[in-house]
Amino acid sequence: MITVNENFLKLQSGYLFPEIGRRVKAFANNNPNANIIRLGIGDVTEPLSPAIIGAMHKAVDQMASKKEFKGYGPEQGYDFLIEAIIANDYKTRGVSLESNEVFVSDGAKCDTGNIQEIFGIHNIIAVTDPVYPVYVDTNVMAGRTGQADNKGRYEKIVYMPCTPDNNFVPQLPTDKVDIIYLCYPNNPTGAVAKKEQLKVWVDYAKENKSLILFDAAYEAFISDNSIPHSIYEIDGAKEVAIEFRSFSKTAGFTGLRCAFTVVPKALKAYTKDGQAVEVNQIWNRRHCTKFNGASYVSQAAAAAIYTEQGKKEVRDIIKIYMSNAALIRSTLQEIGYEVYGGVNAPYVWLKTKNNMTSWEFFDFMLSNANVVCTPGSGFGSAGEGFVRLSAFGDPANVAQAMERIRKL
Ligand SMILES: *Cc1c(COP(=O)(O)O)cnc(C)c1O
Repeated sequence: MITVNENFLKLQSGYLFPEIGRRVKAFANNNPNANIIRLGIGDVTEPLSPAIIGAMHKAVDQMASKKEFKGYGPEQGYDFLIEAIIANDYKTRGVSLESNEVFVSDGAKCDTGNIQEIFGIHNIIAVTDPVYPVYVDTNVMAGRTGQADNKGRYEKIVYMPCTPDNNFVPQLPTDKVDIIYLCYPNNPTGAVAKKEQLKVWVDYAKENKSLILFDAAYEAFISDNSIPHSIYEIDGAKEVAIEFRSFSKTAGFTGLRCAFTVVPKALKAYTKDGQAVEVNQIWNRRHCTKFNGASYVSQAAAAAIYTEQGKKEVRDIIKIYMSNAALIRSTLQEIGYEVYGGVNAPYVWLKTKNNMTSWEFFDFMLSNANVVCTPGSGFGSAGEGFVRLSAFGDPANVAQAMERIRKL
């Protein structure tokens, strides 16, 4: 008899985005003339920039040439991309990395989801609330949690509320935790963590021999110079942190796929009897066994982001999104909303009005402004009473959505 991995049966059904889709569809059917504007999506809308497209065309031509064709590449990624990453993303911020500390992949979703499998099953996981669901669900699948309660919180996971009171950066937990997931700039709250705030976590991790899994998928959206782009800007972080980055939001690669993960050689995990083991080697073994490399065309495209032209084009696209964010912020603030995020991240986190729940406010916005947002409660119980607005929309649509909300 074939049995299933019953951990998968503990998962809460993928509720949030299907439910949004259902409600939007029902509304559209009843209101066929409504021009619905979607500010709920976490996907980019601008096309890839010319430098990136040029590099892709060239790479495609190479693939058509007997002499320059590329088959399997290094599982860890091509040197040309790894060198560009280290020189531009890290050296410029005072962080030195060796090329075998960077692992190129086809997405930060996969990497943040896969990383947990190289760590023991009894590690206590800590996540922020609200949270990017991938961190939680992959640990549920692995069997690191119990069942979910009626709030959707799993037994054995430590949830760390992120609210206006702590500026959406969690306090240290009172229980000892082994693996801590942090995402800054944050999806969904749009919050950032200052150096001093990350230092608290790095110090905690060093003291407790814990690990920080730091998701920096939105670092390119940081505008405030004092905010760290990498956790390795904090002294000692290389001993306790893995960092995830992605070209998805930075450069519009959501459909093309390319990302990378940094696993420093100084990072150690421990056997049951306390022996230190290099995490880099274990991740390398896992990566080479289960992954055959991101496509050459994607990596050639990613390398183009680091050329002078590529940098400028990517910055210009980010400016479009961040001016959307600024417009969303200023409009909502003017009409009396409590607004967070949207300055160093492409998301605005909005407190609902009149104590509406997230879903009540979602329905209110959909019916009265024909604007779609994402209910904050879908990211965790501390997100109740908030909604997320994405700045990744088309500027004209965003402007129209704000005009409608202003008139409510
Ligand atoms: C979009 C996003 C990513 C990027 O995922 P990819 O698989 O690289 O597209 C990673 N983390 C968070 C929190 C995100 O929102």
